[in-house]
Parts: sequence; structure tokens; C-alpha cells
Amino acid sequence: MTMPFTAPESYVGAVSAGAEPDAGSLCFVFQQTLLLVAEQPRELGLPQHETLVELNAAPLRRLYLGTLGGRACYAFEYATEIQAPPGLLWQGLRGLYGRLDESLFALAGRALQFIDWDRTHQFCGRCGTPTRHRGHERARECPACALIVYPRIAPAVMCLIRRGREILLARSPRFAPGMYSALAGFVEPGESLEQCLAREVLEETGIRISNARYFASQPWPFPHSLMIAFVADYAGGEITPAPDEIEDAQWFALDALPRLPNRISIARRLIDGVVAEMRSAHS
Ligand SMILES: [Zn+2]
Repeated sequence: MTMPFTAPESYVGAVSAGAEPDAGSLCFVFQQTLLLVAEQPRELGLPQHETLVELNAAPLRRLYLGTLGGRACYAFEYATEIQAPPGLLWQGLRGLYGRLDESLFALAGRALQFIDWDRTHQFCGRCGTPTRHRGHERARECPACALIVYPRIAPAVMCLIRRGREILLARSPRFAPGMYSALAGFVEPGESLEQCLAREVLEETGIRISNARYFASQPWPFPHSLMIAFVADYAGGEITPAPDEIEDAQWFALDALPRLPNRISIARRLIDGVVAEMRSAHS
């Protein structure tokens, strides 16, 4: 199963480029979290390297990403006041899902994470000295105290709970009206994924689970999560939604599911996958 933000097979990551970007390079150009895309006759694409000249400014940062299908890939960040040239638009990444080529979309997620990490690690977190690129690996180092900082990834778990012919779905107050999803939460230091699952589910809904099975994982570049999805069985407890975190949680029958998350998310793939499995087991 290909997840939207998973690097395509023809991608080879690297830190140091052998040459400067040229007409054959793929340019992922960001302004904060917005990606510069070109309106082409029938679809959206990345801007040509030459068109970057029209931005008429030096980038705040430029990172080499590696190659995709043999083409060198670069990520750039420009200041927020820079206007998009005619025919080009600044667009949020989520809105580009399904509109930008799949492998470009996947790499754009990775580029966004590297740009964000580079921007937020310009100074040493221990002594405040300006940091510098480490050269041979994706890291920044402090020339004064030798602290090395790598791109951060925050693991989070997601859990879809089964009980007979029903699944437990919940909604956060942040969700779109009427939408429900699987439960999720960030892993705490010192916790295993299994412990995190049990704690999050109990805290958010008062439900106890057993028999957790791995489903799939998905990088999520907003700003740097790795979502690890599981399916588990109901083991006891009554639904008691956590105030502030969970607006509502319910057991839903397979033929009466509420509005679900967008297909870009692993939540939707998890729900669709488990529902299909439950349907075929009972048919
Ligand atoms: Zn330092």
C-alpha cells in the first residue's frame, strides 16, 4: 500500500549535491508551509528552475534532497513577502493531494519537513551559538559546544477498536462538522507503542483494549509526525469521552458509518481496511 507522504521507490536521498540546480532539477519551493506550483494546461506541476529567477530574490535556504528518477531535487524557502510570478501559485500541501503528481507530492512532504527543521534549528538549543550544516549527513552542528541536531520525527499511534460488528470512532472539537475518526495520540518518552495505545484509548474514551495488531504507518509532515496505525479488540469499559479532547465517541455499525476523514490520511485507510476485512469475515 502506498501512503501519500511515503517517498517513491525511485527516490534516492542524499545531503550533498555534486552540482548547482539546473533546468533538469526538480524544485520544491516553499514560503513557510506553502508550495509554489505552476498552473499547466491540464494539471499542476513544479515550477521550472528558470522561473525561479522571476521571484527576484535570494532564497532564505536551499537544501539538496537527493534524486527522483535520476533528477536532482532541491528544496528552497523564500520570504513571505515574495509574490508568485504570473502562472504560479503558493498552495498548502494538503490541498494538492490528488492534483499534483503522486511522487512529487510525496517528496514535497519530505521537503517541507527538512525546510521546517532547518529553519527552526539555526541556533544551538544548548548554548545559543549559530549552527551550521554538518556536510556529510542531514544534521546541523554547533561549532561552540558540538551539539548535533538531526531532523525530528514525533511518533504517534492510531487505534481502531473492534467490538463484534461495530467499530469505535470519536470526534475531536477540531474536526469538520459530523466527521469521526480513529483515536490517536503522541508517544511519550519511555513508552512502547503498545503502552501508548492502551493509555491513549483509556484516557480519551475509558475503554480497555486487547490484541493490538500493526496495520500500517504514514509520515505526516505537519510538521513532523510518523503515524503508526493499529487495530485492536474491545476488552472492557464504558465510553466516557475525555473533556476538551473528545467531543463524542460512539460504537458505529458497519452499515451506519459517519462522515470519515479524507483519503489522504492513514485514518481513512485504516477504517476502510478494517471495515472491508470485517465485512468479508461475516459474508
Ligand atoms: Zn552549542
